[in-house]
Amino acid sequence: MEKVIKLHDKRFRVMIPAAKIDEAVGVVAARINADYRQKGVPLFIGVLNGAFMFLSDLIKKIEFDCEISFVKLASYCGTCSTGEVRSLIGLNNPIEGRHVVIVEDIVDTGESIEHMVRELEAMHPASIRVCTLFFKPGSYSKHIPIDYRALEIGNEFIVGYGLDYDQLGRNLKDVYVVTE
Ligand code: 5GP
Ligand code: MG
Repeated sequence: MEKVIKLHDKRFRVMIPAAKIDEAVGVVAARINADYRQKGVPLFIGVLNGAFMFLSDLIKKIEFDCEISFVKLASYCGTCSTGEVRSLIGLNNPIEGRHVVIVEDIVDTGESIEHMVRELEAMHPASIRVCTLFFKPGSYSKHIPIDYRALEIGNEFIVGYGLDYDQLGRNLKDVYVVTE
């Protein structure tokens, strides 16, 4: 029987089992290993909260010296007349001249990743690439290249493996989708 779980008011069923996620993480890690082996000590920047589990599994498969940092995109009300302002917080390491790999849980419309790439570009890194666990090609509307995509999905809402539904579900090892 199919396992169904309940988070808040919604029911979810397994869409991608842990073994399949692990396999996809391995494929992406192999590509990054091939691309970065000769590039000094790259900096992986994980985007909290969602990417914590993906980054921890990905990094165990990386075979060259690297550094890891985490950031958050914080939303706040600037003057309140100009609407919401989003800014990158938590980055302590200077990134000038560094090869940077941003590690995201999911790229949907691309709003967040575009914002982040613009902010990081202003700090003059040697290069920036984006690595995401999930990519929604039907929803993406930006021009930032999404270099590494572990898994592509439709426009459905998913939870698990770091991704939440109103803060619940991040601890699940499989990925779930809403069910009726
Ligand atoms: P974007 O700015 O690309 O539209 O959306 C990025 C953010 O929206 C993600 O970092 C994530 O927080 C949230 N998001 C988008 N799609 C999903 C989804 O299917 N499930 C969950 N849990 N969050 C999502
Ligand atoms: Mg995210």
